[in-house]
Amino acid sequence: MLPNRYDFREAEPRLARFWELNNVYGYDPAGLGQHFTIDTPPLTVSGQLHIGHCYSYTQADAIARYRRMRGGHVYYPMGFDDNGLATERFVEKTIKHKATEIGRDAFINACLELTQQTEGRFETLWRRLSLSVDWRYRYSSISHEARRVSQWSFIQLYQQGLTYTQFAPTLWCPECQTAIAQAEVNDASLPTRFSTIAFRLPGGGILPIATTRPELLPACVAIFVHPDDPRYRHLIGKTARIDSGAFSGSPELAVPILADELADPSRGSGAVMCCTFGDSTDVRWWHTHHLPLRAAIGRDGHMTGLAGSYAGLTVQQARRRILTYLEETGQIISEETIEHDVGTHERCGTPIEYLHTRQWFIRVLDQKERLLEAGRKIRWHPEHMRIRYEHWVEHLQWDWCISRQRYFGIPFPAWICRACGETMLASLEQLPVDPQTTQPLVACACGSTDFEPEPDVMDTWATSSCTPMIIGRWIDDPAWFAQHFPASLRPQAHDIIRTWAFYTIVKSLYHTNDIPWREVMISGHGLSADRRKLSKSKEHNEVGPMEIMEKESADALRYWATTGRTGADSPLSPENIATGRRLVTKLWNASRFAESRLERFTNGARPAALLPTDRWLLSRLARTIAGATAELDRYEYAAARAEIDRFFWSDLCDNYLELAKARLYSEAGAAHYAAQWTLYQALLAVLKLLAPFLPYITEEIYQGLFRQWDGASSIHLASWPSEQPEWIDTEAEAIGETLLGLLRQVRRYKAERGQSVGAELASLRISGHLQPAQRASLEMAMVDLKSATRAKQIVLEEGAEDGGSQMLKDNELLIEV
Ligand SMILES: [Zn+2]
Ligand SMILES: [Zn+2]
Repeated sequence: MLPNRYDFREAEPRLARFWELNNVYGYDPAGLGQHFTIDTPPLTVSGQLHIGHCYSYTQADAIARYRRMRGGHVYYPMGFDDNGLATERFVEKTIKHKATEIGRDAFINACLELTQQTEGRFETLWRRLSLSVDWRYRYSSISHEARRVSQWSFIQLYQQGLTYTQFAPTLWCPECQTAIAQAEVNDASLPTRFSTIAFRLPGGGILPIATTRPELLPACVAIFVHPDDPRYRHLIGKTARIDSGAFSGSPELAVPILADELADPSRGSGAVMCCTFGDSTDVRWWHTHHLPLRAAIGRDGHMTGLAGSYAGLTVQQARRRILTYLEETGQIISEETIEHDVGTHERCGTPIEYLHTRQWFIRVLDQKERLLEAGRKIRWHPEHMRIRYEHWVEHLQWDWCISRQRYFGIPFPAWICRACGETMLASLEQLPVDPQTTQPLVACACGSTDFEPEPDVMDTWATSSCTPMIIGRWIDDPAWFAQHFPASLRPQAHDIIRTWAFYTIVKSLYHTNDIPWREVMISGHGLSADRRKLSKSKEHNEVGPMEIMEKESADALRYWATTGRTGADSPLSPENIATGRRLVTKLWNASRFAESRLERFTNGARPAALLPTDRWLLSRLARTIAGATAELDRYEYAAARAEIDRFFWSDLCDNYLELAKARLYSEAGAAHYAAQWTLYQALLAVLKLLAPFLPYITEEIYQGLFRQWDGASSIHLASWPSEQPEWIDTEAEAIGETLLGLLRQVRRYKAERGQSVGAELASLRISGHLQPAQRASLEMAMVDLKSATRAKQIVLEEGAEDGGSQMLKDNELLIEV
């Protein structure tokens, strides 16, 4: 029995408890048949969840539900990425102290406590949104298992020569005071002062040098010109000078003029200063020309002692002071403001520096071909997202820097021998290990037992890139690993193709020589109503997802989340959410009506006495099932749902229920049963087809009405509607089109006369050249046409084929077909 009304506020939490108590989404690893493993994105634990998260996670959930109904054993764990810079910044903001202020141990404890609380809140929200996760497999990237996998991965890579440490120029965030990877750098275009400085040449004369970074002058080690530039060819090998009393330890700075093809004669004056380091070209020159290292900027973003009296100033302060000094000493030729591309740290927006530091890297630059080939073995949905991956791989400039000078991360499982400098690695049985508190199990090869713990932690991507191996129990359960790796599907957003997708492919190739997943579904971003990205790092005043679900229902929020094409961004749309709510209401009303008409119904084999209207609807239904199934197989959930929506609103509700109404209201007989049977098939199929999108309303109706016949304990464990090719009936579709055409004309006729749809029509005459079979079918459908048009009599007559309709006399309509 369906209750009188559907109140989602009462029903949704109740149904969520029902699923939990009955373990509806429980994964059975021993289940026979196909297993479908989803490599879920572990949520970054860095604040509140916003609707952007609901957007992409709902899309993946719709696929999980579809796969489950298709009979797959769906292994759908949920992860939390709770270490790394994003989490640290969240904790610093919450406790209002920087990590450096409270010390390593206290800070790590604060991180552990806050992430625990936050993950609990996230789980509550996910359950309300109804992600069909098996929560027994919840994992986090700081867990015992994840640390073990992550550290073992590092050890393996070290032993294979795929990771190395070196002192080298590194991308550095002075705000976060850590090295970062190329993938964490965003390009920003900022207005910048472009100053042309006058360097003095020997024997008089000026060499103009344009720069956006005059504060790097104390770090200037050379000036480069193109070897073929006729303006400067004669200067190669000479020395240029500038007065530097205020900003360096000596009254003047003398730098050699060198030649290199990378100096672009068309940029600025064509002569460029090389500082250690202003950009990646400086790094290359420094390498190829064996230039000295002069570090003018320290790890904290302040000027070093090299900057003379400006030591200790920030980069910005030093830039202003040096420009003033150059102006006052007549060493500036010209100035303009230009739009200049600046690399910024994605977490904090601070312009990055290039500092010479010791870091750990994973090799990728010499593996591009292999990485591209792996990308081609994976099926990308939508397909064009593979291009983004390839573009990233092709344009890699740095090996993957994985060390971070931070606190809340997984430590490197390594020590350095104080006697001989060798790196000592932990052994598997020690993992996870904190080298700060644990010693190696054996002495160094040199005999020493005096070790310096590796001070850095690994970047969080070094661990989250192992998620297929973490959920696959890579180290400790080979049978499980064989069953769950490669995973079936990786769902993720497009902005982390260059990080999460790329890094996961790297790790998977290096450790297994295989791809990490067979398919990847890329989601777009759920945007705020005014199309802003709801970035987790920014403040936003958007209504939170819990508020929306309490006001509009989880089903309605999920409806919005599954409306946009796979991979496309969608702004939050109140109209779309309202459409979702209307669909919920319409499903409820249609089901209440069906319940009243399905009294004493027993489901059986297809009746022989189906009317053309029934066969038309079943044919449309068969096409809808086939279409939606094909779209879901291609991960085009929105296209699938659009087909189902169309069938439900138009074919079933607007048309079939009107046409078959009289038969449904009659008490008994073959025609009555045919209509009951057809309605039952169509509505049950619609509910099942919509179950991945609207899990609550479909379950409520299934439990109250259909479970008695269909028999599954939950609609989410019922089987997906099977395709019914034998229902496809082109002849019935043609008759159906004719009937709908007639119905439309009668409705228009009534509307034009201000009559209600249910107003009686005295007579309806249908005229045209009809084939005998057509005529027979139409005659069979007369009962339905009478019911839908409320015509007292319908006459079929032979006549001309002009098309159109005309009023004969009052309330008598002639329609030519
Ligand atoms: Zn930063
Ligand atoms: Zn040693």
